[in-house]
Amino acid sequence: MKISHIEHIGIAVKNLEESIKYYEDILGLECYGVEEVKEQKVRTAFFQVGQVKIELLESTDPEGPIGKFVEKRGQGVHHLAFATEDLENTLQELEGKGIQLIDKQPRKGAEGLDIAFLHPKSTGGVLTELCEDKTK
Ligand code: ZN
Repeated sequence: MKISHIEHIGIAVKNLEESIKYYEDILGLECYGVEEVKEQKVRTAFFQVGQVKIELLESTDPEGPIGKFVEKRGQGVHHLAFATEDLENTLQELEGKGIQLIDKQPRKGAEGLDIAFLHPKSTGGVLTELCEDKTK
């Protein structure tokens, strides 16, 4: 597999608007987009920090993955996302190496990226997302 950089860091929050205020008013960053990803039952807000983005995730449903995470562990860092190429083959390669995949096939994530998650059991406890930008 070929990772080029950290695409974003995903942070679970309880209230998107309140959290955006912290990143804008205190850290001086600028939110450049808010987007709902219905499949994942989240609303997301993005900030660019150099090459890396911060993705804030607010659940739209207590039964969704972020809803459950916040319920169990509270707000905080949720996942780390790497930019990679050829996601479909990368997933096959990882599965062949015994890595437990949450998504066996790429699916659509925020910002039109193809994404897939690796299970934290296989990644030293870090929920890991792989992203491919097919428009590039
Ligand atoms: Zn993400």
